Amino acid sequence: MNPNSSSPLASQESSASTNRLKAQSLIDALAAPVLTHIIDGKACVSIDGQISSNRSPVDGSELNKTALGSEADVRAASLSSSIAFESWRLWPAAKRRDVLHAIADKLESNAEAISLIETADTGQPLHFTGKTATRGAENFRYFADLCTRASDGHSYPTPTHLNYTMREPIGPVGAITPWNMPFMLATWKIAPALAAGCTVVHKPAEWSPLTATLLAKIALEAGLPAGVLNIVQGIGDGAGSALTQDPRIKAIAFVGGTKTGSRIMAQGAPTLKRVHFELGGKSPVVVFDDSDLDRAVDAVAFMIFSLNGQRCNAGSRLLVQRSIHDQFVERLVKRAQSIRVGDPFDPATEVGPLIHGVQLAKVKEHCDRAQQAGATIHCGGVPIGNPALHPQGHWFAPTVVSGVTASMDIVREEVFGPVLAVLPFDDEAEALALANDSRYGLSTYLWTSNVGRVHRLARSFQSGMVWVNTEISRNLSTPFGGMKDSGVGRDGGDWSFDFYMETRNVCIALDEHRIPKIGKN
Ligand code: NAD
Repeated sequence: MNPNSSSPLASQESSASTNRLKAQSLIDALAAPVLTHIIDGKACVSIDGQISSNRSPVDGSELNKTALGSEADVRAASLSSSIAFESWRLWPAAKRRDVLHAIADKLESNAEAISLIETADTGQPLHFTGKTATRGAENFRYFADLCTRASDGHSYPTPTHLNYTMREPIGPVGAITPWNMPFMLATWKIAPALAAGCTVVHKPAEWSPLTATLLAKIALEAGLPAGVLNIVQGIGDGAGSALTQDPRIKAIAFVGGTKTGSRIMAQGAPTLKRVHFELGGKSPVVVFDDSDLDRAVDAVAFMIFSLNGQRCNAGSRLLVQRSIHDQFVERLVKRAQSIRVGDPFDPATEVGPLIHGVQLAKVKEHCDRAQQAGATIHCGGVPIGNPALHPQGHWFAPTVVSGVTASMDIVREEVFGPVLAVLPFDDEAEALALANDSRYGLSTYLWTSNVGRVHRLARSFQSGMVWVNTEISRNLSTPFGGMKDSGVGRDGGDWSFDFYMETRNVCIALDEHRIPKIGKN
């Protein structure tokens, strides 16, 4: 439902309700009577029989029951992964490549089911989840094609020695993922690990468990051997924590909040886990008055309001040159007010409900506190029920807040909702200082037509990624990751293999150098 027009088209409503019914019957087929773990190629419930309830982001009603994993389930999964590792690591790379492509094929042929289930589970509109299977398949295909090069190394010849390197998979690894883009992020971690020759135990987020089990089932059907990809459902303090402490697991690839990352680092310390963290962000968008403002408005609106604002790379701090501040804010407000907020199953919806009532309350509290501190809320700032679906549903209106100061929480903390905080700046130096005034360092977006300024700022921004005159445009070969509290390590191309593989150096003498002698007269 569009908050600005109280009666959506009947045809949209009927297609939305058809989609919702389809999604529920797919969920029932996947998860009735309970969504299982996948361990050693078999669907199984928890060893202690515990289950949890998975609830709809729309209104909190139950979508399905989920097996609630504990340490015992994680132990079974890691044992299975370590046994499977011994054969999977020896598979010829071309054979691994073929099975990863077969998984990609099956993801594409299950695209509609993946999209509908993901929408039911996360509240992300079909408008976005419609592409999730394709993105997942791209991740598998990209890394499938790198399989045959994964263990390649470098050579470093000198007049007396030849050094060469080789890579080998590190072992069974754990992947722990969040709820905002669960399917895409799972494939983003799992595909390179499998391509490297690792086996994986994946623990998805408890608020979005469905597509992880589906992915493992699809992978098995595509020919992935049992035990190469195990799924353990559960909560962070249970299955998640056990996975990070399991001695058989050699590395943890984690996507989620910064505090959780820090806990995982501590939990993994006794077993010296290698960690890769993609964490939170408060990414600035810096707009100079010489930029193409039409394109900038499009990109700013997209990077904060798409995916319900629940994206790590959201451009959630807008720094705009004072000379264009008012007109730019006005244009953004108009845009925010015309966004179609509503039923995620309606193909026309652009913003759906937030994942959970807890998240809705957190986003609202941020807006309330900013307003109490003197900020101006131009639009949004409040939850909006949806009479057709649920009057107290988890929707939050797209929000633009100005008149904020750099010390306010709404500028400093990750809100993780459709909320944009706007600050003015006068010149390049002030823009740079404001952009870097954050504990986070994931992305910076820069809008300007001044080439010199692009290069000056690109090397001064404290973020792992700088996007110039563009929204996020992902190229899987490029390094993806954050600085400061936004992460540890990089994903993409060879960076992923460096994480999932050990590098060995071999040094061979050409038998001509002088060996130092001791104990010889
Ligand atoms: P979260 O940190 O609460 O949970 C993420 C995962 O960690 C879940 O599977 C959870 O069960 C698990 N977990 C929680 N505590 C754990 C523990 N002690 N040990 C092991 N596992 C544990 O994050 P969330 O709320 O699910 O997701 C939102 C966060 O994810 C945001 O901060 C967002 O910025 C971040 N994120 C980052 C990226 C990126 O690429 N940088 C991408 C998407 C999301």
